[in-house]
Amino acid sequence: MPHYLQKIFLLFLFLIPGHLFSQIQKNWAWGGPIDPLQAKYQVMHYQLELEIFPQEQEIHGKNKITFQSREKLDTLRLNLIEEFEVGKVVMDGKEVDFLRHGDILDIFPIDCTCEEVEVFYGGKTPIAIRPPWTGGFTWEIDQLDNHWMGLSSQNEGGKIFMPCLDHPSSEPLNGVDLIFTAPKPYFVASNGRLVDTRESNGKVTYHWTSQYPIKNYNINFTLGVFHEESILFPSVDGKEIPMFVYVLQENRDKAKSLMDVLKTSAHTHEKYFGPYPFPDDKIAVVETPYLGMEHQTINAYGNNFQFEKIGNVWADWLLHHELGHEWFGNKVSVKDWADFWIHEGLTAYGDWLFYLEHGGEEAYHKKVASVKAGIRNLRPVVSPRNSTSDYAYHPEIYTKGAFIIHSLRFYIGDDLFFPMLKAFASDERFTYENLVETLDFTDFVQHYTGMTELQGFFDLYLKSVRLPKVKINKKGKKGYQVSLSNIDFTMPVEIKTSNGYERHLLSKKPVLVRSDQAVEVDPIGWYLLEK
Ligand SMILES: [Zn+2]
Repeated sequence: MPHYLQKIFLLFLFLIPGHLFSQIQKNWAWGGPIDPLQAKYQVMHYQLELEIFPQEQEIHGKNKITFQSREKLDTLRLNLIEEFEVGKVVMDGKEVDFLRHGDILDIFPIDCTCEEVEVFYGGKTPIAIRPPWTGGFTWEIDQLDNHWMGLSSQNEGGKIFMPCLDHPSSEPLNGVDLIFTAPKPYFVASNGRLVDTRESNGKVTYHWTSQYPIKNYNINFTLGVFHEESILFPSVDGKEIPMFVYVLQENRDKAKSLMDVLKTSAHTHEKYFGPYPFPDDKIAVVETPYLGMEHQTINAYGNNFQFEKIGNVWADWLLHHELGHEWFGNKVSVKDWADFWIHEGLTAYGDWLFYLEHGGEEAYHKKVASVKAGIRNLRPVVSPRNSTSDYAYHPEIYTKGAFIIHSLRFYIGDDLFFPMLKAFASDERFTYENLVETLDFTDFVQHYTGMTELQGFFDLYLKSVRLPKVKINKKGKKGYQVSLSNIDFTMPVEIKTSNGYERHLLSKKPVLVRSDQAVEVDPIGWYLLEK
């Protein structure tokens, strides 16, 4: 998700009248230790069928959950916010008992070996307070007086719109079928491929399907009256992937430019991260009544077409960022929010690579320096194991997370660094159903590069807020002793001397550097250092 405007929003929060604070919703954050009852089964598939009632701001329907378990379950524990009413629960064609406590839905299977449960539910949709950061449903009316609905749930999980096993470690292994009915002429944009559209009694039903695993918060639907543009995108591996943009009718004249921006971003990401990860589905953005989110194969776009020229191409930072999550966040996906930085840090680094690709090294370094200036280094990038989404979410999973990747570029060198990034995003041990954690990334980089000494670098920058302290002592007429006085490992650092830029391995043991003039350590800014 995007983070740049968050501070501005927080500022507004202090300016709004007190009575509006009553709107601040419950904490629906997800993650943390997995519930032992939920650790007993694996979700294989969700088939969500909902009718959307824009006038009433309600949804009604059912979710069919297919699961597998090694043992017979006495209780099948799901999550669904208590605001929704559950009508009945059906297994093996029979209604079964269920109990609700808070946002937990316990189902008691009859003596069966069922691997499928249908939960019928519905009600008023929870309204997003500060989407996409504090999510829920956002209902708006567009300029042509049509309803326009967006859903965001990264911090809340799937339970705010469907019964599910709501934990970051749980993804439906065989994907999802998402079937939405809405009054004519509304369209419902969702994940995967649109395989069927049916009209009956003034209503339209859209059937979307995807066979890829997907995080609960990425399961998404946006309702509106949209203008659609589509092309076939030539992927780097030779495939032709359907590419769509859906924008409000009032913005139809901007759809083609948005498609161009999307194409440029997709090509750029493919160059650095490898082929687009969901070729059997699509590449798409839909205009949403909130800033943005990385919903798998249907990215939310609410940045008002504020394109900027970088080098010779037009770009949209929000669109580029959310699309980058298709690689880091959606294809490479964490099982514990403690490692949230893998989603946001690597994707934010992808934002900088756009500058490198289209603006060159100078534009890249300028962008990096502007972000570096704002890194306050307040909390470790990696949070404790079993963190919740709201605990692990903080600005430095973006800024410092990306900066650590930038440091790695210098540390290991471009010849290894760029292939390494792509290899990590392409390794089947770390992609799709194989969820990752920080240790997977740090181990991978060390094996790939053969640089086991990177462990000290990773421990310091990812898991602490300490920074290497630069010490320079003049030694004789033309010598300088340079060290990083507080670290227990060595790292390569650039030093500017009278002879030009030199690369030295620095540690707490001083290194003698010859120079006719005062030396400058890391003049370009590859590292976060205490100088
Ligand atoms: Zn993001």
